[in-house]
Parts: sequence; structure tokens; C-alpha cells
Amino acid sequence: MTHRIRLEGGGVFDVSAEEDTLLRGALRAGVGFPHDCNVGGCGNCRFDLVDGEMETLWPEAPGLSDRDRRRGKRLACQSRPLGDCTIRVRPADEYRPVAPPRRMTGVLRRRAALTADIAEFVFETAEPARFVAGQYALLRPPGVEGVRAYSMSNLANDAGEWRFVVRRTPQGRGSAAMFEDVRIGDTLAIDGPYGHAHFREGAPRDVVLIAGGSGIGPIVSIARAAIRATPSRRVLVFEGARTRADLCFPTLMGEDLRRVGYTAALSAEAAGSDWSGARGFVHEAVERALGDRWETSEFYFAGPPPMIEALIDLLVMRRTVPTDRLHYDRFF
Ligand SMILES: Cc1cc2nc3c(=O)[nH]c(=O)nc-3n(C[C@H](O)[C@H](O)[C@H](O)COP(=O)(O)OP(=O)(O)OC[C@H]3O[C@@H](n4cnc5c(N)ncnc54)[C@H](O)[C@@H]3O)c2cc1C
Repeated sequence: MTHRIRLEGGGVFDVSAEEDTLLRGALRAGVGFPHDCNVGGCGNCRFDLVDGEMETLWPEAPGLSDRDRRRGKRLACQSRPLGDCTIRVRPADEYRPVAPPRRMTGVLRRRAALTADIAEFVFETAEPARFVAGQYALLRPPGVEGVRAYSMSNLANDAGEWRFVVRRTPQGRGSAAMFEDVRIGDTLAIDGPYGHAHFREGAPRDVVLIAGGSGIGPIVSIARAAIRATPSRRVLVFEGARTRADLCFPTLMGEDLRRVGYTAALSAEAAGSDWSGARGFVHEAVERALGDRWETSEFYFAGPPPMIEALIDLLVMRRTVPTDRLHYDRFF
């Protein structure tokens, strides 16, 4: 059974009655529904329900402000249609999925620790792994409400291998379940791919990649895609971490490390350590390193929201990089 969703002002699409959310149903139908995080954090998928009934999955989702709630706004990533509905939202081509998202089941084949609180999880699906470097999937760890977004750290492949670099966050329920309750051989629902902070192969510029913490997953994926697609272009990678023991990029890249320019910036390495690399925040390291190459670079970044804000301030406000050259995911 399907529910018919009408867009006020024209347009219609069908969403399966088993569909998890309006947003995912819209994207599966190929509609360019505005969105970013898919997990209730960013608020970009706000819409108005004009007619019909929808269930709200997470009423307290931080993506809606009190003002939004007073005005009757809803989040498409937290709304499930209960019948035919009419909604008000303005779809845009830039949000149209680059690869159609699919619901799959993944078996955990391997888990490898990278640092004290970060590990790479390797899942296998029966279907080929279809995505563009830099995208993410939604996983449903056992025993928690909702889904969690994790970015793929590998490249698309026919073997159905999906790799995710996951950080166990302090007090985090979903990431704790990933580390404690998901064992080798267990299955998990995987829905994807999603996201538009993906590699733009055709962009004729050098590639600058910046990661904070577990944001390294999509950055490894894009770095691998970039060195394969554009051998003549420079690929610069900046990894921000607290201490040397928290760095993962060299381990994840292995042999390919020598094919990129790599800078690590440590914000909390002990003053007496023999670390001779950059200290401070990663955006400061980017600013020092780029020289006059702001105009000739395409920027991709992923990590905690404060890092993203600092980079937007640096790139857009201070270095006047056009916003269409910035591609990023805030890890809410
Ligand atoms: C686009 C994107 C890509 C990401 N990629 C990665 C990655 O590659 N690696 C990584 O380690 N982290 C990644 N994250 C962060 C990750 O999704 C989780 O937020 C993080 O693991 C913390 O989750 P937690 O359950 O441990 O923490 P918690 O604090 O328990 O949960 C926070 C997360 O769960 C959601 N949530 C909380 N309560 C509910 C509820 N009642 N109903 C529905 N949803 C709820 C929130 O929106 C938030 O996403 C990404 C986030 C986004 C948005």
C-alpha cells in the first residue's frame, strides 16, 4: 500500500505505507526534498502539513525551534504519513539523490579498533554497495530510538561491502550499542545512500579535505576517490584530533597516504610531547597551509558542528570562497 503526497503548488509522489519517514520516502521517489542530516538535528527538512495526518516520531527533535513548533512546522525526517497528505515545501534539484536510497540488511563481518574510542565497522549486504564517496547511510543500532547516520569510509563496490568509522561518544546510546551490542555475524538495517557532501569528480580544482574526529570516515572515502579520479590534481587532507593517539587517517589510508598531502593538527597534545606537527584547531592549520590556493580549491569537510562553523567562517567570510565549492556534513 502507498500514501499519495501532494505538493501544494504542483507535484505528487507516492510513499510506501511501510516507509519510515516522509523524507526518506520522498528521496526514494527521486524528489529533491531539502534536507541534510536525516536525524532530526539540522532542521533543513522543515515543511508545513496542509492536509492529512502524519505521526511525529521524535517530538523533541532539536532541529525545530520553539518558534517553529508554535508556527506548526514539522521535520520530514521525523514525520510518517498515515494516509494521503498535502504538504508545503519547495523541492530543489540540488537535493535530488545522486544514487537511489535502498533499505537493506547488513551483516557485521569485521570490526577493527583505530583508537581508544574509534573503530571501523565492516558490513556486508546481499546487494552491491552503491554510493558516491562522501555519502552516509542510516543504521538502526539495537535498543535505541531512531536511526544513526554513519558515513561510508570505503568506495562503492559490487561485493556489498560498507565500511563505517564510528566514534563511541560519551553518554551516546546509539554508538554504545554499536560497540557493545552488535557482534560479528549480527545483522543491522542499513538504509542508504544519503547526503550531498559527496565528491564532485568533474570539478576542475584541487581537492582540500578536512576532518574532525570521526569525520575522517567520509574524508578517507573522498581521498581515495580523488586520487583515482584526478591523479593530476593535488589532494590535501587535514585531520584534527585531540592527541596523536586519536589520529586515524594514516592507518586508514595505508599505502595511499603518500599520494596525498597530509597535515594533522592536535588541539590537546601534551606540551612536553615530542610532537613536531601542527598544534591547535584544524581550521587554523588549513589557513596556514593554503597560501594563495583558496580560489583554485574545492573543499569537503565533516565533523562536529563547531568545526564546521569555524571552517565556514574561514572559507566564506574571510577568504570569500564561493559557497558552491564547499561540501560538508555536520555530525549532529
Ligand atoms: C550526516 C551525518 C553523518 C555522520 N557520520 C558519522 C560517522 O561517520 N561516524 C560517527 O561516529 N558519527 C557520525 N555521525 C554522528 C552519528 O550519527 C551519531 O550522532 C553519533 O554516533 C552519536 O550517536 P549516539 O547515539 O551515540 O548519541 P546520542 O546522544 O544517544 O544520540 C544522538 C543522535 O541520535 C539521534 N536521536 C537521539 N534521540 C533520538 C530519538 N528519540 N529519536 C530519533 N533520533 C534520536 C539524534 O538526532 C542524534 O543523531 C554522523 C551524523 C550525521 C548527521
